[in-house]
Amino acid sequence: MIVAMQENATDEQIQHVVARMVEVGFNVHRTTGAVQTILAGVGRPGQFDHKDFELLGGVAEVIRISSPYKLAGRNFRPGGTIVTFPNGVKIGGDEVVVMAGPCSVESREQIFLSANQVKAAGAKFLRGGAFKPRSSPYSFQGMGLEGLKLLREVGDETGLLIITEVMEISQIEVMLPYIDCFQVGARNMQNFNLLRELGQVRKPILLKRGIAATIEELLLSAEYILAGGNYDLMLCERGIRTYETYTRNTMDISAIPVIKHLSHLPIIADPSHGTGRRDMVPAMARASVAAGADGLIIEVHPNPEKAVSDGAQSLFPEQFSKLMDELRIIAPAVSRTIAEPAAVPVA
Ligand code: PEP
Ligand code: MN
Repeated sequence: MIVAMQENATDEQIQHVVARMVEVGFNVHRTTGAVQTILAGVGRPGQFDHKDFELLGGVAEVIRISSPYKLAGRNFRPGGTIVTFPNGVKIGGDEVVVMAGPCSVESREQIFLSANQVKAAGAKFLRGGAFKPRSSPYSFQGMGLEGLKLLREVGDETGLLIITEVMEISQIEVMLPYIDCFQVGARNMQNFNLLRELGQVRKPILLKRGIAATIEELLLSAEYILAGGNYDLMLCERGIRTYETYTRNTMDISAIPVIKHLSHLPIIADPSHGTGRRDMVPAMARASVAAGADGLIIEVHPNPEKAVSDGAQSLFPEQFSKLMDELRIIAPAVSRTIAEPAAVPVA
Protein backbone atom coordinates (compact mmCIF):
# COMPACT_ATOMS: atom_id res chain seq x y z
CA MET A 1 0.00 0.00 0.00
CA ILE A 2 1.18 3.50 -0.87
CA VAL A 3 0.01 6.49 1.15
CA ALA A 4 0.60 9.89 -0.44
CA MET A 5 0.41 12.67 2.12
CA GLN A 6 -1.01 16.12 1.36
CA GLU A 7 1.48 18.88 0.55
CA ASN A 8 0.73 20.65 3.80
CA ALA A 9 0.64 17.55 6.02
CA THR A 10 2.28 18.17 9.37
CA ASP A 11 5.05 15.98 10.73
CA GLU A 12 2.67 14.89 13.48
CA GLN A 13 0.13 13.67 10.92
CA ILE A 14 2.84 11.80 9.01
CA GLN A 15 4.06 10.16 12.21
CA HIS A 16 0.51 9.12 13.06
CA VAL A 17 0.00 7.47 9.64
CA VAL A 18 3.38 5.70 9.94
CA ALA A 19 2.40 4.43 13.38
CA ARG A 20 -0.96 3.10 12.07
CA MET A 21 0.79 1.38 9.13
CA VAL A 22 3.26 -0.29 11.49
CA GLU A 23 0.37 -1.30 13.73
CA VAL A 24 -1.35 -3.25 10.92
CA GLY A 25 1.92 -4.99 10.05
CA PHE A 26 3.70 -2.95 7.37
CA ASN A 27 7.35 -2.03 7.13
CA VAL A 28 7.18 1.62 6.16
CA HIS A 29 9.52 3.27 3.67
CA ARG A 30 9.30 7.04 3.80
CA THR A 31 10.22 9.28 0.89
CA THR A 32 10.13 13.02 1.43
CA GLY A 33 10.03 14.82 -1.88
CA ALA A 34 10.07 18.52 -2.66
CA VAL A 35 6.28 18.60 -2.67
CA GLN A 36 4.91 15.79 -0.54
CA THR A 37 5.78 12.78 1.59
CA ILE A 38 5.12 9.30 0.26
CA LEU A 39 4.81 6.34 2.63
CA ALA A 40 5.25 2.90 1.07
CA GLY A 41 4.05 -0.03 3.16
CA VAL A 42 5.65 -3.38 2.34
CA GLY A 43 5.48 -6.78 3.98
CA ARG A 44 2.56 -8.93 5.01
CA PRO A 45 -0.01 -6.85 6.86
CA GLY A 46 -2.82 -8.44 8.82
CA GLN A 47 -6.49 -7.68 8.21
CA PHE A 48 -7.22 -4.00 7.65
CA ASP A 49 -9.33 -1.78 5.45
CA HIS A 50 -7.17 0.50 3.31
CA LYS A 51 -10.08 2.99 3.26
CA ASP A 52 -9.45 3.66 6.97
CA PHE A 53 -6.18 5.27 5.93
CA GLU A 54 -7.89 7.63 3.47
CA LEU A 55 -9.63 9.26 6.45
CA LEU A 56 -6.53 9.90 8.53
CA GLY A 57 -5.48 13.54 8.84
CA GLY A 58 -3.09 14.81 6.16
CA VAL A 59 -3.62 11.89 3.75
CA ALA A 60 -4.08 12.80 0.07
CA GLU A 61 -4.39 9.36 -1.54
CA VAL A 62 -4.14 5.67 -0.69
CA ILE A 63 -3.19 3.18 -3.38
CA ARG A 64 -3.75 -0.49 -2.70
CA ILE A 65 -1.13 -2.62 -4.42
CA SER A 66 -1.78 -6.24 -3.47
CA SER A 67 -5.14 -7.75 -4.42
CA PRO A 68 -7.60 -8.65 -1.66
CA TYR A 69 -8.01 -12.17 -3.08
CA LYS A 70 -5.05 -14.49 -2.77
CA LEU A 71 -6.10 -17.97 -3.91
CA ALA A 72 -8.15 -16.70 -6.86
CA GLY A 73 -5.37 -14.44 -8.16
CA ARG A 74 -3.29 -15.47 -11.16
CA ASN A 75 -0.09 -15.37 -9.11
CA PHE A 76 -1.33 -18.36 -7.16
CA ARG A 77 -1.24 -20.54 -10.29
CA PRO A 78 0.39 -18.62 -13.12
CA GLY A 79 -0.12 -21.49 -15.57
CA GLY A 80 -3.92 -21.45 -15.13
CA THR A 81 -6.31 -24.00 -13.67
CA ILE A 82 -7.66 -26.91 -15.68
CA VAL A 83 -10.79 -28.53 -14.23
CA THR A 84 -10.90 -32.21 -15.17
CA PHE A 85 -14.13 -34.22 -15.05
CA PRO A 86 -14.30 -37.99 -14.43
CA ASN A 87 -14.91 -38.75 -18.13
CA GLY A 88 -11.76 -36.85 -19.14
CA VAL A 89 -13.41 -33.58 -20.27
CA LYS A 90 -11.14 -30.68 -19.33
CA ILE A 91 -12.07 -27.03 -18.95
CA GLY A 92 -9.31 -24.46 -19.11
CA GLY A 93 -7.19 -26.33 -21.69
CA ASP A 94 -7.18 -25.97 -25.48
CA GLU A 95 -10.79 -27.00 -25.99
CA VAL A 96 -13.63 -24.53 -25.59
CA VAL A 97 -16.18 -26.74 -23.85
CA VAL A 98 -19.85 -26.12 -24.55
CA MET A 99 -22.64 -26.68 -22.02
CA ALA A 100 -26.16 -26.48 -23.41
CA GLY A 101 -29.74 -27.36 -22.66
CA PRO A 102 -32.96 -25.84 -21.42
CA CYS A 103 -33.27 -23.28 -18.66
CA SER A 104 -35.37 -25.75 -16.63
CA VAL A 105 -35.94 -29.48 -16.63
CA GLU A 106 -39.64 -29.65 -17.55
CA SER A 107 -40.40 -33.30 -18.35
CA ARG A 108 -38.74 -36.56 -19.23
CA GLU A 109 -39.49 -36.13 -22.90
CA GLN A 110 -38.19 -32.53 -22.98
CA ILE A 111 -34.89 -33.28 -21.23
CA PHE A 112 -34.11 -36.43 -23.26
CA LEU A 113 -34.86 -34.64 -26.51
CA SER A 114 -32.77 -31.63 -25.44
CA ALA A 115 -29.85 -33.86 -24.47
CA ASN A 116 -29.80 -35.64 -27.80
CA GLN A 117 -30.05 -32.38 -29.70
CA VAL A 118 -27.23 -30.60 -27.89
CA LYS A 119 -25.02 -33.68 -27.90
CA ALA A 120 -25.47 -34.08 -31.65
CA ALA A 121 -24.23 -30.50 -32.13
CA GLY A 122 -21.09 -31.08 -30.00
CA ALA A 123 -22.03 -30.04 -26.45
CA LYS A 124 -20.20 -31.91 -23.67
CA PHE A 125 -22.51 -30.86 -20.83
CA LEU A 126 -26.26 -30.83 -20.45
CA ARG A 127 -27.56 -27.88 -18.46
CA GLY A 128 -31.03 -27.68 -16.93
CA GLY A 129 -32.32 -26.30 -13.67
CA ALA A 130 -34.12 -28.57 -11.21
CA PHE A 131 -34.22 -25.85 -8.55
CA LYS A 132 -35.01 -22.50 -10.15
CA PRO A 133 -34.39 -19.04 -8.68
CA ARG A 134 -37.29 -17.09 -10.19
CA SER A 135 -37.84 -13.38 -9.86
CA SER A 136 -41.50 -14.06 -9.04
CA PRO A 137 -42.64 -16.61 -6.45
CA TYR A 138 -45.59 -17.41 -8.74
CA SER A 139 -43.36 -18.58 -11.62
CA PHE A 140 -42.38 -22.25 -12.14
CA GLN A 141 -39.92 -23.16 -9.38
CA GLY A 142 -38.44 -26.31 -10.92
CA MET A 143 -39.06 -30.08 -10.71
CA GLY A 144 -36.73 -30.54 -7.72
CA LEU A 145 -35.55 -34.08 -6.92
CA GLU A 146 -37.53 -35.57 -9.78
CA GLY A 147 -35.66 -33.23 -12.13
CA LEU A 148 -32.31 -34.30 -10.67
CA LYS A 149 -33.16 -37.96 -11.25
CA LEU A 150 -34.06 -37.27 -14.87
CA LEU A 151 -30.80 -35.37 -15.34
CA ARG A 152 -28.75 -38.29 -13.98
CA GLU A 153 -30.59 -40.78 -16.12
CA VAL A 154 -30.13 -38.80 -19.30
CA GLY A 155 -26.51 -38.06 -18.39
CA ASP A 156 -25.77 -41.77 -18.00
CA GLU A 157 -27.54 -42.60 -21.22
CA THR A 158 -25.87 -39.95 -23.38
CA GLY A 159 -22.48 -39.56 -21.68
CA LEU A 160 -23.15 -35.83 -21.25
CA LEU A 161 -21.93 -34.28 -18.02
CA ILE A 162 -24.67 -32.69 -15.90
CA ILE A 163 -24.57 -29.13 -14.61
CA THR A 164 -27.44 -27.75 -12.55
CA GLU A 165 -28.03 -25.00 -10.03
CA VAL A 166 -27.74 -25.29 -6.26
CA MET A 167 -29.68 -22.61 -4.41
CA GLU A 168 -29.16 -23.47 -0.77
CA ILE A 169 -26.98 -25.48 1.60
CA SER A 170 -29.61 -28.15 2.26
CA GLN A 171 -29.66 -29.06 -1.46
CA ILE A 172 -25.94 -29.92 -1.65
CA GLU A 173 -26.20 -33.42 -0.15
CA VAL A 174 -29.37 -34.15 -2.11
CA MET A 175 -27.73 -33.15 -5.39
CA LEU A 176 -24.33 -34.83 -5.00
CA PRO A 177 -25.29 -38.27 -6.35
CA TYR A 178 -27.03 -36.85 -9.41
CA ILE A 179 -24.78 -34.17 -10.84
CA ASP A 180 -21.29 -33.58 -12.22
CA CYS A 181 -21.03 -29.84 -11.59
CA PHE A 182 -22.79 -27.41 -9.26
CA GLN A 183 -23.89 -24.09 -10.71
CA VAL A 184 -24.10 -21.16 -8.30
CA GLY A 185 -26.48 -18.67 -9.85
CA ALA A 186 -26.06 -14.92 -10.14
CA ARG A 187 -28.49 -14.32 -7.29
CA ASN A 188 -26.40 -16.46 -4.95
CA MET A 189 -22.94 -15.17 -5.83
CA GLN A 190 -22.74 -13.50 -2.45
CA ASN A 191 -24.52 -16.19 -0.45
CA PHE A 192 -21.36 -16.62 1.59
CA ASN A 193 -22.65 -19.48 3.73
CA LEU A 194 -23.48 -21.46 0.59
CA LEU A 195 -20.06 -20.66 -0.92
CA ARG A 196 -18.31 -21.78 2.25
CA GLU A 197 -20.16 -25.11 2.21
CA LEU A 198 -19.29 -25.61 -1.46
CA GLY A 199 -15.65 -25.14 -0.51
CA GLN A 200 -16.00 -28.40 1.42
CA VAL A 201 -17.38 -30.52 -1.44
CA ARG A 202 -15.16 -32.27 -3.93
CA LYS A 203 -17.15 -31.66 -7.06
CA PRO A 204 -16.56 -28.87 -9.60
CA ILE A 205 -18.43 -25.60 -9.31
CA LEU A 206 -19.43 -22.93 -11.81
CA LEU A 207 -19.77 -19.59 -10.02
CA LYS A 208 -21.82 -17.03 -11.92
CA ARG A 209 -21.21 -13.32 -11.66
CA GLY A 210 -23.88 -11.47 -9.66
CA ILE A 211 -26.31 -9.22 -11.46
CA ALA A 212 -24.57 -6.08 -10.15
CA ALA A 213 -21.24 -7.52 -9.07
CA THR A 214 -17.85 -6.13 -9.91
CA ILE A 215 -15.16 -8.51 -11.13
CA GLU A 216 -13.37 -8.04 -7.81
CA GLU A 217 -16.49 -9.11 -5.92
CA LEU A 218 -16.76 -12.19 -8.14
CA LEU A 219 -13.13 -13.09 -7.37
CA LEU A 220 -13.70 -12.54 -3.65
CA SER A 221 -16.69 -14.90 -3.79
CA ALA A 222 -14.47 -17.43 -5.58
CA GLU A 223 -12.03 -17.03 -2.70
CA TYR A 224 -14.64 -18.40 -0.27
CA ILE A 225 -14.84 -21.65 -2.24
CA LEU A 226 -11.08 -21.93 -2.78
CA ALA A 227 -10.39 -21.22 0.89
CA GLY A 228 -12.37 -24.37 1.75
CA GLY A 229 -10.04 -26.42 -0.43
CA ASN A 230 -12.22 -26.89 -3.50
CA TYR A 231 -10.03 -25.80 -6.42
CA ASP A 232 -12.27 -27.23 -9.15
CA LEU A 233 -13.84 -23.89 -9.73
CA MET A 234 -14.90 -22.02 -12.87
CA LEU A 235 -16.26 -18.50 -13.18
CA CYS A 236 -19.08 -17.36 -15.43
CA GLU A 237 -19.83 -14.02 -17.07
CA ARG A 238 -23.61 -13.90 -17.56
CA GLY A 239 -24.28 -10.21 -18.13
CA ILE A 240 -24.71 -7.43 -15.62
CA ARG A 241 -27.43 -4.87 -14.89
CA THR A 242 -26.76 -1.53 -16.59
CA TYR A 243 -28.97 1.37 -17.68
CA GLU A 244 -29.50 -0.31 -21.07
CA THR A 245 -32.94 -1.93 -21.39
CA TYR A 246 -32.86 -3.28 -24.93
CA THR A 247 -31.17 -6.45 -23.74
CA ARG A 248 -32.07 -8.28 -20.50
CA ASN A 249 -28.54 -7.71 -19.19
CA THR A 250 -25.40 -6.20 -20.67
CA MET A 251 -23.03 -8.97 -21.68
CA ASP A 252 -19.65 -7.86 -20.39
CA ILE A 253 -17.34 -9.43 -22.95
CA SER A 254 -14.42 -7.43 -21.54
CA ALA A 255 -14.78 -9.36 -18.27
CA ILE A 256 -13.36 -12.39 -20.12
CA PRO A 257 -9.85 -11.00 -20.79
CA VAL A 258 -9.91 -9.13 -17.48
CA ILE A 259 -10.60 -12.33 -15.52
CA LYS A 260 -8.00 -14.22 -17.58
CA HIS A 261 -5.52 -11.55 -16.57
CA LEU A 262 -6.45 -11.36 -12.88
CA SER A 263 -7.19 -15.01 -12.14
CA HIS A 264 -6.07 -18.54 -12.98
CA LEU A 265 -9.67 -19.83 -12.95
CA PRO A 266 -11.36 -20.85 -16.20
CA ILE A 267 -14.01 -18.44 -17.45
CA ILE A 268 -17.25 -19.58 -19.08
CA ALA A 269 -19.54 -17.20 -20.99
CA ASP A 270 -23.34 -17.30 -20.80
CA PRO A 271 -24.67 -15.30 -23.75
CA SER A 272 -28.24 -16.48 -23.06
CA HIS A 273 -28.71 -14.66 -19.75
CA GLY A 274 -26.20 -12.10 -21.01
CA THR A 275 -28.65 -10.87 -23.65
CA GLY A 276 -32.05 -12.42 -22.88
CA ARG A 277 -32.75 -12.51 -26.61
CA ARG A 278 -32.37 -15.50 -28.89
CA ASP A 279 -31.46 -13.27 -31.86
CA MET A 280 -28.46 -11.82 -29.99
CA VAL A 281 -27.13 -15.04 -28.46
CA PRO A 282 -25.04 -16.30 -31.42
CA ALA A 283 -23.19 -12.98 -31.84
CA MET A 284 -22.27 -12.85 -28.16
CA ALA A 285 -21.27 -16.54 -28.16
CA ARG A 286 -18.96 -15.93 -31.13
CA ALA A 287 -17.52 -12.83 -29.46
CA SER A 288 -16.94 -14.75 -26.21
CA VAL A 289 -14.92 -17.44 -27.95
CA ALA A 290 -12.92 -14.81 -29.82
CA ALA A 291 -12.30 -13.02 -26.48
CA GLY A 292 -10.78 -16.15 -24.93
CA ALA A 293 -13.61 -17.86 -23.03
CA ASP A 294 -12.79 -21.40 -21.90
CA GLY A 295 -16.36 -22.51 -22.37
CA LEU A 296 -19.92 -21.47 -23.08
CA ILE A 297 -23.20 -22.22 -21.34
CA ILE A 298 -26.13 -21.74 -23.69
CA GLU A 299 -29.87 -22.25 -23.32
CA VAL A 300 -31.33 -24.48 -26.02
CA HIS A 301 -34.89 -25.84 -25.98
CA PRO A 302 -36.62 -28.30 -28.33
CA ASN A 303 -39.52 -25.86 -28.57
CA PRO A 304 -38.51 -22.48 -27.10
CA GLU A 305 -41.94 -20.97 -27.66
CA LYS A 306 -43.37 -23.48 -25.18
CA ALA A 307 -40.53 -23.28 -22.62
CA VAL A 308 -41.66 -22.77 -19.02
CA SER A 309 -38.73 -20.42 -18.37
CA ASP A 310 -36.41 -18.25 -20.46
CA GLY A 311 -37.97 -19.26 -23.79
CA ALA A 312 -37.14 -15.91 -25.42
CA GLN A 313 -33.42 -16.45 -24.93
CA SER A 314 -33.40 -20.17 -25.73
CA LEU A 315 -32.04 -21.19 -29.12
CA PHE A 316 -33.89 -23.55 -31.43
CA PRO A 317 -31.82 -26.74 -31.81
CA GLU A 318 -31.03 -25.91 -35.47
CA GLN A 319 -29.75 -22.47 -34.44
CA PHE A 320 -27.50 -24.06 -31.84
CA SER A 321 -26.08 -26.50 -34.31
CA LYS A 322 -25.38 -23.68 -36.81
CA LEU A 323 -23.72 -21.65 -34.04
CA MET A 324 -21.47 -24.62 -33.17
CA ASP A 325 -20.39 -24.79 -36.83
CA GLU A 326 -19.47 -21.09 -36.71
CA LEU A 327 -17.57 -21.51 -33.44
CA ARG A 328 -15.54 -24.31 -35.06
CA ILE A 329 -14.28 -21.72 -37.52
CA ILE A 330 -13.59 -19.03 -34.91
CA ALA A 331 -11.90 -21.18 -32.24
CA PRO A 332 -8.77 -22.10 -34.28
CA ALA A 333 -8.17 -18.39 -34.97
CA VAL A 334 -7.54 -17.99 -31.23
CA SER A 335 -5.63 -21.30 -30.91
CA ARG A 336 -8.59 -23.23 -29.45
CA THR A 337 -10.69 -26.20 -30.54
CA ILE A 338 -14.37 -27.14 -30.24
CA ALA A 339 -15.78 -30.66 -30.30
CA GLU A 340 -17.08 -32.06 -33.56
CA PRO A 341 -20.76 -33.01 -33.86
CA ALA A 342 -21.49 -36.36 -32.17
CA ALA A 343 -23.40 -39.32 -33.50
CA VAL A 344 -26.59 -39.84 -31.48
CA PRO A 345 -29.13 -42.62 -31.80
CA VAL A 346 -32.15 -41.62 -33.89
CA ALA A 347 -34.94 -40.95 -31.40
C1 PEP B 1 -29.87 -20.09 -15.26
O1 PEP B 1 -28.76 -20.52 -15.61
O2 PEP B 1 -30.94 -20.52 -15.72
C2 PEP B 1 -29.91 -18.92 -14.34
C3 PEP B 1 -30.94 -18.71 -13.53
O3 PEP B 1 -28.81 -18.14 -14.46
P1 PEP B 1 -28.39 -16.82 -13.64
O4 PEP B 1 -28.14 -17.27 -12.24
O5 PEP B 1 -27.16 -16.36 -14.36
O6 PEP B 1 -29.53 -15.84 -13.77
MN1 MN C 1 -32.37 -19.46 -17.45
